[in-house]
Amino acid sequence: HVNPKSDIEISQEADMRPIIEVAEEKLGLTPDDLLPYGHYKAKVSLDYIESIKDKPDGKLILVTAITPTPAGEGKTTTTVGLGDALNHIGKKAMICVREPSLGPCFGMKGGAAGGGYAQVVPMEDINLHFTGDFHAIGAANNLLAAMIDNHIYWGNKLDIDSRRVTWRRGIDMNDRALRNIVTSLGGAANGFPREAGFDIVVASEVMAIFCLATDLADLQRRLGNIQVGQTRDKKPVMAKELEAPGAMAALLRDALAPNMVQTLENNPAFVHGGPFANIAHGCNSVIATKAALKMSDYVVTEAGFGADLGAEKFLDIKCRKAGLSPDCIVVVATIRALKMHGGVAKDDLKAENVEAVEKGFSNLKKHVENMRKYGVPVLVSVNRFSGDTEAEMAKLQELCDTIDVECELSDHWANGGPGAANVAEAVVRICDEGKADFKPLYPDETPLWEKIQTVAKEIYGADDVTADKSVMNRIKELEDQGFGHFPICVAKTQYSFSTNPDAKGAPTGFTIPVREIRLSAGAEFIVVICGDIMTMPGLPRVPAANNIKLDEQGHITGLF
Ligand code: ADP
Ligand code: MG
Repeated sequence: HVNPKSDIEISQEADMRPIIEVAEEKLGLTPDDLLPYGHYKAKVSLDYIESIKDKPDGKLILVTAITPTPAGEGKTTTTVGLGDALNHIGKKAMICVREPSLGPCFGMKGGAAGGGYAQVVPMEDINLHFTGDFHAIGAANNLLAAMIDNHIYWGNKLDIDSRRVTWRRGIDMNDRALRNIVTSLGGAANGFPREAGFDIVVASEVMAIFCLATDLADLQRRLGNIQVGQTRDKKPVMAKELEAPGAMAALLRDALAPNMVQTLENNPAFVHGGPFANIAHGCNSVIATKAALKMSDYVVTEAGFGADLGAEKFLDIKCRKAGLSPDCIVVVATIRALKMHGGVAKDDLKAENVEAVEKGFSNLKKHVENMRKYGVPVLVSVNRFSGDTEAEMAKLQELCDTIDVECELSDHWANGGPGAANVAEAVVRICDEGKADFKPLYPDETPLWEKIQTVAKEIYGADDVTADKSVMNRIKELEDQGFGHFPICVAKTQYSFSTNPDAKGAPTGFTIPVREIRLSAGAEFIVVICGDIMTMPGLPRVPAANNIKLDEQGHITGLF
């Protein structure tokens, strides 16, 4: 179970087929339905998607994970591997994943196109620029920023308080130098200096809107509702008052059609949209997921971070808003992460430690119980690493039996689709049993503070939630303004159920402190900030960018 080759080497040896052929043979699309970007990438036209809207939906399978180690536990690889495995056992299946951001590509975590023998290709393209969607999103974001300062420059009819502009500029790069800046320096011709800053594009509200919009009209409507700041008498200013949404939507029009690529096994995959899973909801676009459900019988999709963050948002924000209802939830676990939750230090994770697996199981157990609260059947898929031992695996099987959850060992990373055929068979059986009866954790009408308490207590296992008076006032203000029916989007660490990243397993006896509440009026959710959140990451001391090179033939090397 050791791949001698790096992810990029495996991907460069892929036997890719023209994407037009993949779409035609696997899904019955004609070349007219596709907008090709070269030979191996294509957007599926929104007209085609509109034309299939009355077809029945396939089954929806969500891939989520236990609380991860910093290396990631393999949600993307499992999503890709499970999609290939479903095709391998003869099903018509598609996958839907997020587009990678350039930030982590050049920073630390690496690409997001899967790994080993479970990848989407061409991985260099997918990881770098792809079809330009993120640049379009950045441009739309920055057009609005430019129109705000321009409005103030030309007389400020709306009476915008330049000290209270909350809209930030965006760029798809880790660049800490841009977190806080001063704009309009250099004299009267350049406007009124003010403090401003940049967020990475994936953290912008435009990204969240892009991923939740159901069509172009809905996109434009949501863009118009963005609140960019306040007037001098503290009234909110919306993007539509600046007459920005039309031009923003025009910039996003082509990007909104979902991108189709293929897996290493030539199966079709949508890779579209990529919001953060803290300040935003962390899943690929609604348009891609809905289209895939019309185009195939099984759709496997991923939500970011652990199930307390990504899956909760997938279910309470995306599914609620888009009317989606999952048939099966796959919780990815790894032996190494279980051992970490069982108290093993990072450098000792490779050694066999059955006791630590048992101790760390509390984390997996809590995630499984949480997912069951949504009325959807759960399956545990263990992403196999080369160092995992028989004894550790046997213990995990035994523990899963005690909570009545099916547990399958998945070998997709080493063996591709055939390595996950057992997982695919189990997923098909669960979907066909039709036991899912999805309901979100809380109804729309629940007051905002109660929504926060429900998620904190039910999902995180907290005793209580605390907040100071300014937070409570802001909640009241938002409810008075008519935003109380929005779902909440909690931003907290992904490394623990609590807000303390070092509290592993399934901690108890803690409270969740709410620091700040932000309205995403266009995305239509309320961001609840608990702890530090980074909307513009920095590069590490030795960034991954240092190792990326072009060889003499112009091939990219070092991209993982
Ligand atoms: P996630 O989506 O949960 O963040 P990924 O699927 O992207 O995780 O995997 C994170 C990294 O771990 C990738 O670089 C991938 O190649 C690697 N990886 C995943 N599964 C395995 C495995 N079974 N053995 C070795 N490396 C793996
Ligand atoms: Mg991933």
